[in-house]
Amino acid sequence: METDALIIGAGPAGLFQAFQLGLQGIASHLVDALPHVGGQCAQLYGHKPIYDIPGIPVCTGAELVQLLERQIAPMQVPRHLSQQVESLQQRDDGRWLAQTTAGTLFAARSVFMAAGVGAFVPKALKVPGVDGLLPEQLHYHPLQLDMASGHTVLVYGGDEEAVNAAIACASSCDGPQSSGGSGAAKTYLMHRRDAFQAEPQQLARLRQLRDSGAIEVVIGQITEVRHAAGRLGAVQWMDGEGREHLLSIDMLLVFLGISPRLGPISDWGLSIERKQLVVDPATQATSAAGIYAVGDIVTYPGKKKLILCAFHEATMAAFAAAEYLQGEKPLLQYTTTSAKLHGFLGVA
Ligand code: FAD
Repeated sequence: METDALIIGAGPAGLFQAFQLGLQGIASHLVDALPHVGGQCAQLYGHKPIYDIPGIPVCTGAELVQLLERQIAPMQVPRHLSQQVESLQQRDDGRWLAQTTAGTLFAARSVFMAAGVGAFVPKALKVPGVDGLLPEQLHYHPLQLDMASGHTVLVYGGDEEAVNAAIACASSCDGPQSSGGSGAAKTYLMHRRDAFQAEPQQLARLRQLRDSGAIEVVIGQITEVRHAAGRLGAVQWMDGEGREHLLSIDMLLVFLGISPRLGPISDWGLSIERKQLVVDPATQATSAAGIYAVGDIVTYPGKKKLILCAFHEATMAAFAAAEYLQGEKPLLQYTTTSAKLHGFLGVA
């Protein structure tokens, strides 16, 4: 995919970067490891209030993401979600070649690192035997559960996503409230304690499905995965007293949480100090021509890890990139009065 600008990270910095590039007439693509945009605001504190966004006395993390989405809508930026950019190399013609874990390949004239504290990726299950599983037998934080249909499924985890997945797997075999279920043949939910984190309504539904036998809750931890001839047969698990048991299943859905990983970014030859990209705050340029960085991933004298600082940085980066890509310093124009900017914004 050829593009003028590739934005790595769709947190608040990446989203506003897309907007500022749009105001410069520069088309961009957004990539994120998460299945949704919003970065930390969506993933870590979606329901909590933020009080220091200029002009918005209070909004939740999720509301801020919605507002940013509305603001960048006129720019029509393609999103490539659930994929991590894993390599970045410069081509002979100066373009940057970026490849994602989903195999998407970009050739970008400029790159904007808006990677925050790293790519949010699911925590892996680390027990013997897990590496031998086929992709269709082991799923981390799946969003769609249709593939569970007809299978004997173990949902492993105790948070809201795990509870919702178990409910979705089990619902279709549970009578009138069954709509939207995936129709697993049998659903187990395993967690180390008999305490689950979810909204009261979901916990009530879980209780109902446990009582009806549609979900069997197992209190323990997986210690080994057993498979033979490429077929998942069972997990070995340990109860609170240290006793080992076997549970026959043919599909494993793992929800052990999501954590940030800087990952490959540190291997891309960019100047880094204490896991942050060193930039010139006047342009947000990194040590490589055509690569800019904004938001929590950057360091410069006086840097503050705040959303409003990321918005300022995205503006500086867009002006610098416009000069780099278009060959002349862009004029400063106001969205209030500029007919050119009104064109980009799709307003009369
Ligand atoms: P992030 O929000 O971290 O987004 C980065 C995105 O990049 C992530 O979605 C990640 O998956 C993606 N990514 C990284 N690497 C890759 C890769 N290689 N490939 C694909 N995707 C990748 N700030 C305030 O200003 N006010 C507040 O009140 C406030 N409250 C906070 C409360 C909490 C609990 C926390 C944790 C933070 C708070 N912050 C607050 C800080 C604020 O959330 C961050 O400053 C902001 O999210 C940084 O935005 P970002 O876009 O730079 O990074």
